[in-house]
Amino acid sequence: MKGFAMKKIGETGWVEKEIPACGPLDAIVKPLAVAICTSDIHTIAGAIGDRKDMILGHEVCGEVYEVGSLVKDFKKGDRVLVTAITPDWSTVEAQAGYSMHSGGMLNGWKFSNVKDGVFSEYFHVNDADGNLALLPEGMDPIDACMISDMVPTGFHGAELADIQYGDTVLVIGIGPVGLMGVAGAALRGASRIIAVGTRPKCVEVAKIYGANEFISYKNGPIDEQVLKMTNGKGVDKVIIAGGGVETFSEAVKSLKAGGKIGNVNYLGEGDNVLIPRIEWGVGMGHKAIFGGLMPGGRLRAEKLGSLVSSGRLNVRHLITHVYEGWDQLPEAVKIMGEKPADLIKPVVRLEK
Ligand code: NAD
Ligand code: ZN
Repeated sequence: MKGFAMKKIGETGWVEKEIPACGPLDAIVKPLAVAICTSDIHTIAGAIGDRKDMILGHEVCGEVYEVGSLVKDFKKGDRVLVTAITPDWSTVEAQAGYSMHSGGMLNGWKFSNVKDGVFSEYFHVNDADGNLALLPEGMDPIDACMISDMVPTGFHGAELADIQYGDTVLVIGIGPVGLMGVAGAALRGASRIIAVGTRPKCVEVAKIYGANEFISYKNGPIDEQVLKMTNGKGVDKVIIAGGGVETFSEAVKSLKAGGKIGNVNYLGEGDNVLIPRIEWGVGMGHKAIFGGLMPGGRLRAEKLGSLVSSGRLNVRHLITHVYEGWDQLPEAVKIMGEKPADLIKPVVRLEK
C-alpha cells in the first residue's frame, strides 16, 4: 500500500509499506476522506522528535476492510468515524476515567506518533469495538473527519473550563480548535463569548458559532482588554486554544475569582507555565487550570456524530479547502503548512 509519510524532520513523501496486520481486537480501515491538522505540520517540523518514513495523519473517516476474530460490533464494509485518540480501553487509566492516558501519559495518541497514521490506503485501529463508531446515515465523510479531532478537542476545552448557563467566556485562539471551543461554549449555555483572533475568515466563522465580541492579542495584553470590556470584573471561564506558556498569565489575569481555565493548546516551547502570584489570589483565588488531551473512542464519536447529524452543530463552516483524490494529498498538506488567511481546514475526499 502507499502512504504519505514524514521521511525525516522537515521532509515528506510517498512510501510503500505492507498493509498492517490485524490483531484479534483490531480493525484495518480504508480512508474515505482525511483532514490535515496543524499537528501534522508540527510533527513534520520535529515537534515529537525524528521519525523515519512514518505515515502522517489522524483525522479520517473510513470503511472497514478487515476485523479481528474478537471484534463484535463492526464488520467489513461498515463506514466508520475514527477518533484521533484511540485508547486501550482495558487499562486502569481508562477505568479511572482518563482513557486518553491509557498505558501512560498521552499514550492514547497513537496515530502518527507511535505507529503509522491514516494518510495511507489502509490503516490500523487498535481496540476496534472501543474506537470505531458507525458513520451516521447521510453524513458526508468530509464532515465526519471533523469528528476525529477538531470537535472533540474544542469541546473538551469547553468541558475542562466547565462552562455553565450564562457564563461569560473568553476563547483564546480561533483556529479550528478554538472555533469548536466557541461552539462548545455556546452549546453549553455561555451568554457572552469573547474571542481572541482577527483573521477575517476565522472571525466570520466564530460569529456563526456564537462568539459575540472580538479582541486582538496584537493590541496589547489580552487581560487588559478583557478587564476593560467587563468593567474590571473579568470572565467566568477561559478556553485556551492558541498562544504559548505566557498565555496562562493573561488567562489567569482575565479570570474572576472562582473561575476555570480549560487548556487544549499544545505547548511546544518554554520550561514553565506562568501563573501570576497576585492575580492568582496569592495562591487562594480558586482559579483552576485544567489541561487535557482530547477524549477519543466510540461513545464520544457516537455522541458528537449525533450532534452533527441532528443539525445542532454544522461542522462544514470549518472546511475551507476540499481536495479530491490521493494525488492531491501533498498539496493539502502543503497549504496547511502555508496557512493562507482564508484557510481553516483542508480535507481530501478519497472515495464517494
Ligand atoms: P491553529 O494554529 O490553527 O490555531 C491557533 C490559533 O491561535 C491561531 O489562529 C493563532 O493565530 C492563534 N494564536 C497564536 N498566538 C496567540 C496568542 N498569543 N493569543 C491568542 N491567539 C493566538 O491550531 P488549531 O488546529 O486550532 O489547534 C490549536 C491547538 O490545539 C494547537 O496547539 C494544537 O496542537 C492543539 N491540539 C490539541 C489537541 C488536544 O487533544 N488537546 C488536539 C488537537 C490539537
Ligand atoms: Zn488533528
